[in-house]
Parts: sequence; structure tokens; C-alpha cells
Amino acid sequence: MTASIALFTRDLRVHDNPVLTAAHQAGEPVIPLFVLDDDILARFATPNRVRFLLAALTELDAELRALGSQLVVRRGDTVTETARIAEETGAGSVHIAADVSGYSVRRADRLHARLSELDCALHVHGSSVTAIDPGALRPSGGGDHFAVFTPYFRRWVEANQRTPLSAPRRLTPPPVTGVPLPEPADLCPGSSSPQLVVGGSATGRKVLREWVSGPIADYAERADRLDFDATSHLSPYLHFGCLSTVQILAAVDSASEGGQAFVRQLAWRDFHHQVLAARPNAAWSDYRSRPNNTWRDDPQAVRAWQAGETGFPVVDAGMRQLRAQGWMAGRARMIVAGFLTKSLGVDWRIGARYFLDWLVDADLANNQLNWQWAAGTGTDTRPNRKLNPLRQADRFDPDGTYVRRWLPELADLPGNGIHRPWRENIDPATYPAPIVECAGM
Ligand code: FAD
Repeated sequence: MTASIALFTRDLRVHDNPVLTAAHQAGEPVIPLFVLDDDILARFATPNRVRFLLAALTELDAELRALGSQLVVRRGDTVTETARIAEETGAGSVHIAADVSGYSVRRADRLHARLSELDCALHVHGSSVTAIDPGALRPSGGGDHFAVFTPYFRRWVEANQRTPLSAPRRLTPPPVTGVPLPEPADLCPGSSSPQLVVGGSATGRKVLREWVSGPIADYAERADRLDFDATSHLSPYLHFGCLSTVQILAAVDSASEGGQAFVRQLAWRDFHHQVLAARPNAAWSDYRSRPNNTWRDDPQAVRAWQAGETGFPVVDAGMRQLRAQGWMAGRARMIVAGFLTKSLGVDWRIGARYFLDWLVDADLANNQLNWQWAAGTGTDTRPNRKLNPLRQADRFDPDGTYVRRWLPELADLPGNGIHRPWRENIDPATYPAPIVECAGM
């Protein structure tokens, strides 16, 4: 049998990994490879994501060692390094997960071209990054993707979800070595968020176990409540593939009310991936153009939004949480994105870029298409809806607990009054006045 290469990308796990399973079936020894790609690092590395990634690679290596193998890490260009190892070992096949960004599609094309010169086959495996492959479900009326979530979700629920794959029982040690994992600062200077979660598949499985053993039961009623912090926090583990959607679905009781509501959110992830796969330009161009729409150029307002100094406590709390944790719950993301695009009239791309800089789960499909949804240029069937930040605050943080957590300078304001500090005669040196008018002030 010839060697096979399992090229890990954002599927950093040994359980339920179609790439590793296929490589194991195709040949021995399996070379579990991860390339720290200089081009990706130059374009997308941020302190938060690099720290999470390196922790996830450390856990992946530990899990591979427990199976008798180890992770081979190389640095450089993914195609060049993979081909180099294929040449060194005479590998007959390379296995990689299918992904949706324009970048990953071009990478697979380049890999295919280079490996065919070496007589080495490239296998691109689906249902690793998403549960249902983008493009597998098509609207009955025609078209290459679903533009509306509800009909997509109906078909997604009916579609055959595969069962999770077990990790290989034993692997042969790889015949090549790699480089040691660097320190986060060697890959990306700058400080990560002080309260960043720890990456890795073992950690992800623990978060999942705790989630399904209790809190998920209240998801339907509590997911939107900012004060309860009642969502799963699984998004970074999904983004880096420390857990697969298939694994999560298998762990959830989807007959329960909480389970059903949670599964619906997981389907949103697949939905956005199938949109981006069909429309790669939607990463930075309007998915639906709004002919009479103009964005305001207002650097001062953008700076206030980024710093969490807009004078709207619920918005500022979200933005400060983003910096402190590299994460926010979905409701907070919707509020701050709606505020930037609809209340301040600022181009969604500016907000999306800033989220990409800070979110540990930053994901091109989910981030860009949710921003477009908030801005009214995306798949929202009511593109003119405008979230009022004060009504959102009253509804989803009724006692101000969430705001009090992130804005200590307002913590002494009583109850719900914290959402309108201008009524409490707050000194502008302590907390800024609102930068824009809004109904309900
Ligand atoms: P839960 O509420 O526990 O949901 C479980 C999982 O469902 C999430 O982990 C996620 O994978 C998926 N999910 C939930 N809501 C959505 C949604 N609206 N769209 C797609 N998938 C969803 N999610 C990212 O993973 N990466 C991003 O970069 C990202 N950027 C966003 C930007 C904006 C402006 C908005 C409004 C939403 C964004 N989301 C993004 C979607 C969502 O807010 C996060 O996935 C969720 O808040 C993560 O927290 P959780 O894991 O506790 O979610």
C-alpha cells in the first residue's frame, strides 16, 4: 500500500473526519498534515484566531499520538508543501475537505494540477465543514442555491444526514517530520482577547457534552436573552472543525423544544455556506443590490462604534464583549450590526471587516452573509427592517444585567434605567452622549 496524506484545513479533529477516514482507507501510512500557510496567515491571521488555532493543533496532535501517529506541521504554501511530502513519500493520494470560499476552491484546483504532475490523486470530501454539502439541495423551482432560509430548512431537515464516523482505531507513524508549532506571537503580533476560549477538539467535545446535558433545554426561550448568556458557545469549535455539525446533531435530542430550536440555528450555518458556495462574490459585494441605497462616510461614528462608545449601552456592551472575548451571542451581533448599518448608515463591509479582525469564530460565509442580512443587502426577506437598539435592550436585557456586566462605569444606574443613561444625568466624561437620535429615547 502506498502512503496517503490527510491534509487538515478547518477540520481539526480525529472523530467524524471524512478526510482522515478516507485517507486511512486509501493507504498506509497516513500522513496527517497541516500547513501553516503564509498567504492565509498574511491575509486572515489575527491574534484571537491564531491562539485558538495553535491550541486546536496541539490537541489534534495529542489525539493523533494516542492513535499511534502524530501531526506533521509544515510552513509555507499549502500546495508546494503538500506536493513536497507527496514526492518525498511517494504518496498515492491526498485527501482534503471541500470548502466554500473562493480561496479554498482555488487552492483545491491548484492542488489538483500540481499533484496530477506527480501521479498522485486528490480527493475532495464533502460533509466535513457542513452537514449537508452546499449545492446538494436545490430549489424545486430551479436555481443553483436557496436564497430564502425557510424552504431551505424544510429540505435540510428531510435530507439524509450521515451518521458520525469513528476515529481510526490505530494509525502507523508518519514517515516524515514537520516543524514544531510556533508561539502565537511568532505568527501574528498583538494581544489576543483576555477572555478568549481555549481551542481544540477535546475541549469542544467537553463544551458540547455540558451543553446537551442541560442548558440546551432552555434554548428556545432563552437564546435571545443577552442577560442569560444561554447559547452554546460552540461557534469557534465549528469554525475550526474541532467539532463537526454531524457530531453535534448526533448529540442533540432534536425532538425536544430546545433541541429543535438549536438545530434550526445549525441549519442557518449550512444555509449561508450554500449561498457563498454559489455566489463567492457575496463575500464582499452586495448579494442583492439596493439601487437607491447610499452609505455614509463617517469615520468618527465608526471609531465610536468600534470602541464601544456610541452612547447606546446595549451596543457598547456588545462591542466591548467582542474585544474582551472575541465573541458575542447572535442577538448582540444583530443589534450592533443593525446599529452600524441602519442607524448610522455605514457600509456593512466596514463592520464585517472589524468582526473578522476580532471574532474567534470569524467565518467568511457566516460573517459576511449575516452582515448582509443585517444591512438589508442579503437574504432577509424584509430588507428594510430596522432594529431599534433601545427596544432590543428593553426586550432582551430587561434588567440591564448584560450591560452592567460590560459597562462597569454604568453599573450603579438602577434597573432598566441603565439603557438610557442620558436620562440619569450621566457626566459625558464618564459615559458618552448618544451619537445619533433614535426612537424611544
Ligand atoms: P448558538 O446560538 O448556540 O447556535 C449554534 C450554532 O448555530 C452556532 O455555533 C452557529 O454555528 C450556528 N448559528 C447560529 N446562528 C447563526 C446564524 N445567524 N448564521 C449562521 N450560523 C448560525 N457565526 C459564525 O460562526 N461566524 C461568524 O463570523 C459570524 N458572524 C456573524 C455576524 C453577524 C453580524 C451576525 C448577526 C451573526 C454572525 N454569526 C457568525 C452567526 C451567529 O451570531 C453565531 O454563530 C453565534 O452567535 C455563535 O454563538 P453560539 O455558538 O453560542 O450560537
